[in-house]
Amino acid sequence: MSGPGWKAAGLRRSSPSGEEPASSPRVKSSLEADVGTIAGIGPHRSAALRARAIGTLYDALTHLPYRYDDLRRRDDVGDLLPGSPAIVEGVLQSLSDRPMPGRWSRRIASALLKQSSGKSIRVVWFNLRTASLPLGEPLLLVGRTNCGQRGIELVHPEIYRLRFGPPPPIRPVYSLPPEVPQKLFVRIVTEALRRADQTSLGSIPTSLRKRAQIGAMLDALQYLHRPSAEADIEKLLSGRTPAHRVVALDEMFTFQFALARERARQRTRRGAVVNGPRHLSSLMQASLPFALTSSQQRAVDEIASDLAAPCQMNRILIGDVGTGKTVVAFCAAVRAAESGWQVAIMAPTELLAEQHFANFNLMCGGLGINAALLTGKMATRERARILRALLRGDIAVVFGTHALIQEGVALKRLGLAIIDEQHRFGVFDRARLAALGSQANVLLMTATPIPRSLAMTLFRNLDVSSLEETPSGRIPVENAVVTEEALEMVDSMVRAELESGRRAYYILPTIESEDDLESVTAAAKRLRTGTLQGFSIGTLHGRMRPAEKDEVMRRFRDGSVQVLVSTTVVEVGIDVPQASAIVIIGAERYGMAQLHQLRGRVGRGNQASRCWFVLSQQCSKEARARIQQLARCRSGAEVAELDLRLRGPGDLFGVRQTGSLPLRFAHWIHDSALIEQAGDLAAEWITHDPELATEESVGLRIGLERMLELGFSLADVG
Ligand code: ADP
Ligand code: MG
Repeated sequence: MSGPGWKAAGLRRSSPSGEEPASSPRVKSSLEADVGTIAGIGPHRSAALRARAIGTLYDALTHLPYRYDDLRRRDDVGDLLPGSPAIVEGVLQSLSDRPMPGRWSRRIASALLKQSSGKSIRVVWFNLRTASLPLGEPLLLVGRTNCGQRGIELVHPEIYRLRFGPPPPIRPVYSLPPEVPQKLFVRIVTEALRRADQTSLGSIPTSLRKRAQIGAMLDALQYLHRPSAEADIEKLLSGRTPAHRVVALDEMFTFQFALARERARQRTRRGAVVNGPRHLSSLMQASLPFALTSSQQRAVDEIASDLAAPCQMNRILIGDVGTGKTVVAFCAAVRAAESGWQVAIMAPTELLAEQHFANFNLMCGGLGINAALLTGKMATRERARILRALLRGDIAVVFGTHALIQEGVALKRLGLAIIDEQHRFGVFDRARLAALGSQANVLLMTATPIPRSLAMTLFRNLDVSSLEETPSGRIPVENAVVTEEALEMVDSMVRAELESGRRAYYILPTIESEDDLESVTAAAKRLRTGTLQGFSIGTLHGRMRPAEKDEVMRRFRDGSVQVLVSTTVVEVGIDVPQASAIVIIGAERYGMAQLHQLRGRVGRGNQASRCWFVLSQQCSKEARARIQQLARCRSGAEVAELDLRLRGPGDLFGVRQTGSLPLRFAHWIHDSALIEQAGDLAAEWITHDPELATEESVGLRIGLERMLELGFSLADVG
């Protein structure tokens, strides 16, 4: 998932409203020294490191190895295959060197490494003077093999001279620029470890840490940079040592504290007060074709009470696909409109904005609320007319995409901004939203499958409403996992659905390709001439013009198109209750959350629905197992738990936003309990020392500063 929560609110270096208290003067620590101050690091190398965001000793210390080599192992040169890692012991002989072909100023040194068994292997180094190579003494060479002109050779290995002592038992390997050798980097890290002290390293205050029995940060870093002979290499490689956990927990604690502090600040921000008489709200609820579920009702009440309060609302509505978030949003919109405020409802796509607009007219059309749709493809004059009306305050509810925010559309009295399927937005920018209306209350909505407990923790800067149940009368979607060979059979089952008046989706991974069966065009052709002959089949994909897309969606909605063959553009929000079948081809290519979203397109009415996950022939065993597990999960929360178990939260937080969240180590947290623990600790500390004034909070102050330095501003993160 990507995090709707932290996008909504700011942790910022200095907020435009100037609310940043002057509580955190820059705390210097000796680890702030430039890497360039270490011997062997000249301007060239230090620039190369800086380009990888390793500018200080602290940066080096938190640049953790991406791999470990077990130097306790020894390879026999006779067993080496080309392209494999090699750890060999022996003595160098027969040195020679020659110019590098094409680069006469550089030279290639080569030698034979002879093992005690008598077997030997050729070793080559680039640009290394032969004179510097130690001959005739026992060495350990660590590198990779390659297939050279004269058979297998060892290429540019690191040399450990055994007469100076044993090599480290486990060698960390860092991702480094080519200018910086591993050994040199180890020297920087060693120096950093020497200078580091417990207090300035690690955000979790000592008393908290001790009570929760969390290891010290310095010990953890020491362990990760210089694993002892006893270290469990498997766990090191998979990131599951207690040390990894400490580092991740520390980071998560810092993050959670930042969120909690932000939330505390928001509570003091004034917002539009929505407290007009409820005449339209009651009318609307009475005229709905269904009764709200109890969690919908609770969400509506929570929102109404936030809206009536003098401080700004920052609430997220979480609800699995099909739980009925839209109507909750409409209740909020009507509440604001009847109180004289304007409302903007924003969706990730124009298709969805139109759907919302159409639904609003259906559900609230009789209330006399002036609503309008603003899209990019509108005629200029029509658009200008709406923009003027918004500015005058004549339109009460406006629907559009997030372009409403980005283009800074001006409203007279924006009291509520609602953002649907927030996780699909690139950037949600509070500063820009402020341009729409600085006092606007904000309601985010997401179907991001995330366990509720985790949501409460991760969205610590937001209030959370969640829809726990689907409307009654729904029959759970029936799932099947099949392979391509079964497609014929699936098609005929779909045919049976169509014959009884239902509609169906086919989802394909690609748009267009003659021979690729997994493309929209090929599939549409196959269905038109095959099993589904005689039914009306439409196609939908991102490369179609907006007008074409609308047309096919409209026809699918009204039933004149019965089968929609599409890419994942239908993934989000599309609501056609008559659809009862979805066939997802190449299912293993999608993420779990996405598959769950797709599956959510059916089962939205009162009839039984089916979802087929069709796997490609080349699908791996693991992928198949993953999809089979998904097929057994009903709710988004279950999917989220599964996803978390399979991949860890690092991915859960969103491949999409790698780099936008200030979390570097959280992917090592392998269960949500740890995230919660970090959240609880943060909550405890913020009541204990909100201004970080105590001596114990020094580490946290530094940690927060550094998080900000990652370029992180919750307000602008997308
Ligand atoms: P989502 O939460 O995925 O955005 P929608 O808001 O699109 O779900 O709602 C899914 C469908 O359920 C819509 O057709 C909507 O009209 C219907 N719906 C919403 N609430 C109820 C309810 N309380 N009872 C019956 N149907 C409902
Ligand atoms: Mg929706």
